Amino acid sequence: MKKKEWTKKCRVCGVVKPGETGFYVCKGNRDGRYGKCIECYKAYVNMYREANIERIRKYDRERFSTYKRKAKVREYISRYKEKYPDKVAARNRLYSAIKRGVLQKMPCEVCGENKSEAHHDDYSRPLEVRWLCRYHHGLLHGHYKYGTE
Ligand SMILES: [Zn+2]
Ligand SMILES: [Zn+2]
Ligand SMILES: [Zn+2]
Repeated sequence: MKKKEWTKKCRVCGVVKPGETGFYVCKGNRDGRYGKCIECYKAYVNMYREANIERIRKYDRERFSTYKRKAKVREYISRYKEKYPDKVAARNRLYSAIKRGVLQKMPCEVCGENKSEAHHDDYSRPLEVRWLCRYHHGLLHGHYKYGTE
């Protein structure tokens, strides 16, 4: 048996429209449909979007760039792990040893700078490291030329 078509009056434009096709579904309402008709609903959404278009665009842009940046970092880390598995493993062993108090972080062995990085001469011996500041660590790896600073 075919259900009798029911109608509903839009509370915005006042036009009486078929309930099933004229209004969006709204579970919270008693008759299961929105109080405003589909046309009025769309107009409302457009109006809201237009009024806030700049804000929405900016939000979309920011969300997108954060997403891209995070993806880049993730990619970099996983590539790094693939490229230098022994390096990463040695570093992990070293930092867990420091955490457990087995080993202590030391100032740069050249200049005494407190902010230092661990340098491994041999990754198969993860706890044998030299502590160097960023600058002297860079020098050791040949990142800087002598005498430029
Ligand atoms: Zn309407
Ligand atoms: Zn140093
Ligand atoms: Zn190093």
